[in-house]
Amino acid sequence: MPHEVKDKFKDECGVFGVFLKEPEQENDAARAAFYGLYALQHRGQESAGIAVSDGHKISLHKGMGLVTEVIKPETIKNLKGNIAIAHVRYSTTGESGIVNAQPMVFHYLQGMLGLAHNGNLTNTADLRKQLATYGSVFQTTTDTELVANLLARYSQDTLEDGLNKCLIDLKGAFALIIITEDKMIGIRDQMGIRPLCLGDYEGNYVLASETAALDTIGAKFIRDIKPGEIVIIDQEGLRSSQVVKSPRCAHCVFEYIYFARPDSTLDGINVYQARRELGKQLARESDIDVDLVIPVPDSGTAAALGYAEEAGLPFQDGLMKNRYVGRTFIQPTQKMRELSVRLKLNAVNKIVAGKRLVMVDDSIVRGTTSKQIVQMLREAGAKEVHMAVSSPPTSYPCYYGIDTSRREELIASKMEVEEIRQFIGADSLYYLSREGMFQALGGNSEKYCDACFSGLYPVGTES
Ligand code: SF4
Repeated sequence: MPHEVKDKFKDECGVFGVFLKEPEQENDAARAAFYGLYALQHRGQESAGIAVSDGHKISLHKGMGLVTEVIKPETIKNLKGNIAIAHVRYSTTGESGIVNAQPMVFHYLQGMLGLAHNGNLTNTADLRKQLATYGSVFQTTTDTELVANLLARYSQDTLEDGLNKCLIDLKGAFALIIITEDKMIGIRDQMGIRPLCLGDYEGNYVLASETAALDTIGAKFIRDIKPGEIVIIDQEGLRSSQVVKSPRCAHCVFEYIYFARPDSTLDGINVYQARRELGKQLARESDIDVDLVIPVPDSGTAAALGYAEEAGLPFQDGLMKNRYVGRTFIQPTQKMRELSVRLKLNAVNKIVAGKRLVMVDDSIVRGTTSKQIVQMLREAGAKEVHMAVSSPPTSYPCYYGIDTSRREELIASKMEVEEIRQFIGADSLYYLSREGMFQALGGNSEKYCDACFSGLYPVGTES
């Protein structure tokens, strides 16, 4: 297992799909999918893959590693067809490994299916049991294979009817892009927990986890896929159905706080603006007398800017990030592991020496990274080091497709704020309140899932 600093929630997947009515070249769809996927690399770094349909069959290429490590120019050359889906993965449900990498391609009564899935089902055990009773066998431990099996079970129906039935059966959080030989289908769970948007790419349709992927290929945003909506795209155009309707949405609030790219707009809210507003609200709620605001790059940058703006304080880059840190397979010694944050970050002595400063970050998961950064800033000569966090304490695990560490590993699940302050060694520690978080995001708490802060799970927990 490559060594990495694991002190952040990890998004698990990014999905992308493109349907070209009349491609100029036979691998245009695969090429667009590659660039779309490249823009979603932050959503998963363990595996990547593209599946392409040429109208008769679906070809697949996937592997372990980053998008550019897996998808080579020869790969694109061989992926011919006008419909493509692509996937990056950081494993949550299911083991890490090529067998669980996506997209997954299956044969069933009606032909072939390719699936790319982001999220986590909460009724996996029940579905698995039901399907096994009907004789299904499973090669992987992923939710994606369950969805394919469900669709296969409904293969006597029309594709539309099968998809509708499938959507009623699935519980939890999911954004799915499916291809058949001649169709591309987008599905979003009934509360819209995981994001999925629709774009116009030179008169063709694209689907993506985030709008940044549309921008990257020059596509225009059309709209978000609605919670509980199915869109089917083929040569006739796009048709939409909504068999399940939830009384409320539950968009993942952590997408705005940390996961999504700042240049993406999800369900009407730009991520960068949201982070800036979270920072402003945090400044209103904190009572710290300091000379300087510094971000923990890059996760805390937009919030720190908002904080500085609201507090009327100077903002400076007191910490520098090594942007070329990838995964390293060289195991560090215990002593080095303790200092592992130094692989990624270093304090800028000239900026922090002699200053009373507040460092702003988006969250504290285990607290070990924050502790090391505080120590690093003190060693660089900072007079006071305060910490302000642009989200409430993360006390509960996520069951909706985010790798959050186990509950006992979340520092806020076992310590009060004052104990966390002592643990990280800061002069003071402020978290954003839940109310403040919702206020910064437009004021409607009913629109969001915030279960990792509140323990209020909108669609229950795992079965
Ligand atoms: S529990 Fe947290 S990370 Fe998971 S979907 Fe809800 S807000 Fe997002």
